[in-house]
Amino acid sequence: MPIYEYVCLDCQERFELLRPIRDADAPITCRKCESEHTSRMLSLFFASSGGRVVAGSGPSCSGCAGGSCATCGH
Ligand SMILES: [Zn+2]
Repeated sequence: MPIYEYVCLDCQERFELLRPIRDADAPITCRKCESEHTSRMLSLFFASSGGRVVAGSGPSCSGCAGGSCATCGH
C-alpha cells in the first residue's frame, strides 16, 4: 500500500497516510483543524526511492564492525 502525503489548505498542516490506491483521492479530514479542504501531494513513496534517503540512513551496515566500512561509510 503506497504512502500518500496530504496538505491542509486551511492550516498548511501536512500529514502522511497509507491508503489503498483506489482511495488515494478520497476525501480526507485534516487531523489538526478537521478541515476538509485538503489536497493530495506527490507520493512520498516515489520521491524517496531516488536513493537519497535510503543510502546512509542506518547507523551501520551488516559488514560494519564499528570501524571504517567501504559499504556504508561508517
Ligand atoms: Zn488543517
